[in-house]
Amino acid sequence: MRASILEALEPVIAPKKQDGSAVLLTWEELYTPLTAPQRELLDDFRALRAETLGATSHYFGELPSNPDLASVGQQTISKEAAAKPLDPQYLPRQVLKAYERMMAAMQAEIGRRLFVESGYRSPAYQLYLFLYYMANHDLSVTETNRHVALPGHSEHGAPQRQAIDFINEDGVNGEERPEEFEALPEYAWLQQRAGAYGFALSYPRGNTLNTAFEPWHWHYEPEHDRSTKH
Ligand SMILES: [Zn+2]
Repeated sequence: MRASILEALEPVIAPKKQDGSAVLLTWEELYTPLTAPQRELLDDFRALRAETLGATSHYFGELPSNPDLASVGQQTISKEAAAKPLDPQYLPRQVLKAYERMMAAMQAEIGRRLFVESGYRSPAYQLYLFLYYMANHDLSVTETNRHVALPGHSEHGAPQRQAIDFINEDGVNGEERPEEFEALPEYAWLQQRAGAYGFALSYPRGNTLNTAFEPWHWHYEPEHDRSTKH
């Protein structure tokens, strides 16, 4: 059933990945190509709560529609000495502003900056990703949940706690080896300074959330943003 859903969604998702709008996928776009039994399976996944899987990740809920988003703009990193454009990314407007303030400071202080590899992701796209990545985890929902949040549980889809996955200008994102990102001067800077701009590390090493260590994944907590208060 899972495989047949992914197959039915391929013609919808593929062009959206091309033009960068996959992260804004709506529930309607996700459900329309599917049969009734396939839709029921999606409903079952949406009803799942992480706590029943032994994880403690919070359920933020699903927004009825995408929040007020702004484009991060063209981002280009260099990978193996070649310029590589990143996929288009979106952030809630105030989070984008906070990120830009933080990067101006990082650039001024250590001459480096980080890019947004993944910003806002709609809950519908999050569900698609969950189904897609189950293949990497023996189709185990519990194991997949350690690496990919269920819809409604991801900070990438929670504008009140918006997450950003960072990548540096040389393409280091920690995806294969978290230690690589952890060793970056950019990461050391974030640990010292991100708090002043309202950003916090979500999944530290040895966290009790049953979530893997993700040094690249930071979220914005507006109440902690001291940079705008002078
Ligand atoms: Zn993330």
